[in-house]
Amino acid sequence: MSLEKNRIITIANQKGGVGKTTTAINLATALAAIGERVLIVDLDPQGNASTGLGIDRRDRKLSSYDVLVGDHSITEAALATSVPNLSIVPSTMDLLGFEMEISQEADRVFRLKNALALDDAREYSYVLLDCPPSFNLLTMNAMAAAHSILVPLQCEFFALEGLSQLLETINQVRQSVNPTLDIQGIVLTMFDSRNNLAQQVVSDVREHLGEKVYTTLIPRNVRVSEAPSYGKPAILYDLKCAGSQAYLQLASEVIQRERQRKAA
Ligand code: ADP
Ligand code: MG
Repeated sequence: MSLEKNRIITIANQKGGVGKTTTAINLATALAAIGERVLIVDLDPQGNASTGLGIDRRDRKLSSYDVLVGDHSITEAALATSVPNLSIVPSTMDLLGFEMEISQEADRVFRLKNALALDDAREYSYVLLDCPPSFNLLTMNAMAAAHSILVPLQCEFFALEGLSQLLETINQVRQSVNPTLDIQGIVLTMFDSRNNLAQQVVSDVREHLGEKVYTTLIPRNVRVSEAPSYGKPAILYDLKCAGSQAYLQLASEVIQRERQRKAA
């Protein structure tokens, strides 16, 4: 039996626009809806997760930057969202300077891990880390801090190519900063059933990666793409739409995998 209290999952893929932030927001909302205490840490200077959860820039007095440089704890920087049980450590453009400022420090890759190890941060049952679209020091902090990685993969021609790069990186992370990093799963996003290529990508990815790929397919859904402009998760904006329903189903798969892991 595992003794760890919380589960830290990094949502990563070096490509932009594959659904990382959408997955972070909606998976977090679904987990919070079933009563888990959930925290998102927004590690992307773009701050899409913060904006998508309706956090006004003026309210971002503290951010993930302040946590990474060591000035403030996770709970000091965390803000409540309109979703009960869901908090977020927002991001600001300050994050752009982090890599340069901290490049000489010996613990630079472990800043987030150390912050999340403090008692107050361990009160969250799930912590989701929303990464920028590159393998920079911010993503490495997330990889070092996480128990597992969840990979959103867009159903498009280059999906498999990007994936092999990512699997290589995961191996490097295991050999360096995080030997026990687990793959929580791979979620196929923006699936369009009318597109033959998308069907082919799904079967190729399943063939290569088998059980690691979630059964849930996230469909391309206009309601999902509209929701952030209202500062709401799709699940709050339109619970009944196919995208929201898919994210609820994904959450139950994530929980199921956690149960299996704990029982093992
Ligand atoms: P990333 O964080 O990987 O850059 P995003 O989650 O921001 O990707 O998604 C990129 C764009 O695609 C956003 O405009 C988002 O609203 C849109 N999008 C993501 N998932 C879906 C979906 N299932 N259906 C329609 N649009 C989506
Ligand atoms: Mg993003």
